[in-house]
Amino acid sequence: MSEVPTITLHDGVEIPQLGFGVFQVPPEDTQEVVEVALEVGYRHIDTAAAYRNEDGVGAAIARSGIPREDLFVTTKLWNNHHGFDSARREFEASVSRLGTGYVDLYLIHWPAPAQDRYVDTWRAFERIHSDGGARTIGVSNFRIEDLERLEAETEARPTVNQIELHPWLQQAELRAWHDRHGVATEAWSPLGQGGELLQDETIGAIADRHGKTPAQAVLGWHLELGNIVFPKSVTPERIRENFDVFGFELSSEEIDEISGLDRGRRLGPDPATFS
Ligand code: NAD
Repeated sequence: MSEVPTITLHDGVEIPQLGFGVFQVPPEDTQEVVEVALEVGYRHIDTAAAYRNEDGVGAAIARSGIPREDLFVTTKLWNNHHGFDSARREFEASVSRLGTGYVDLYLIHWPAPAQDRYVDTWRAFERIHSDGGARTIGVSNFRIEDLERLEAETEARPTVNQIELHPWLQQAELRAWHDRHGVATEAWSPLGQGGELLQDETIGAIADRHGKTPAQAVLGWHLELGNIVFPKSVTPERIRENFDVFGFELSSEEIDEISGLDRGRRLGPDPATFS
């Protein structure tokens, strides 16, 4: 079984660099799919209140018999619960759906700048962290200006920012900001949601050279850049394939070739306007 490396966050918490994402896994299938992922060896699961499958994730964890401390569970606060009291209440609801006692990482899912409430929400996250509900706290889809506002107006610095990031949207400026400030980069939609990106000729050629699939080559690229990834699949063979990404190394030329594919192409919503 592959040994998954961990990344040490700025508060000392260790996170497995490869996990399993469950966005768009139907709630009724989630327990079964996560059971497969845990059997394959994944120990890091990325869910969210908005995915409506936290209870399925929790059921799979309970069934697995894996010690709680060997797992890393992330969930996220949805946009309609911004605000200090609302965020704390919603956190309790998430933990109760998961049944895991605490979460490893709690994220603000989107800054929703039009609501202008994420600073208060972050103060609730600081409290959730100091109360022991979440081992570490972070944000998702935050822009540099949002991160700088948290720096200026609150105490704790997010340990991670989970952003859309794949060869077509590489977010160089935001990643450089993360690096300067010790914030770890989590890449959502690391495979560009499958499909067209994985048909790219450059990626195909690199994958062939290593006897790997395009998905494995793209995940290898992320891992070598230091990104934390959690590809999603409901197909057992692909769940296995996406976990088998540690036995090869891309050359620096190959990394550069993939980095050359950037076209600033977003697949998901724009954080500046999403609310
Ligand atoms: P992804 O890039 O992981 O792509 C998943 C899709 O790629 C699958 O549905 C399947 O069609 C295809 N695929 C998977 N493995 C494959 C393989 N080996 N070969 C060929 N095709 C394959 O996209 P995603 O699910 O959007 O992102 C992954 C995770 O990121 C999510 O499950 C979720 O946990 C997280 N996420 C977070 C946010 C956020 O706003 N924070 C938004 C989207 C996703």
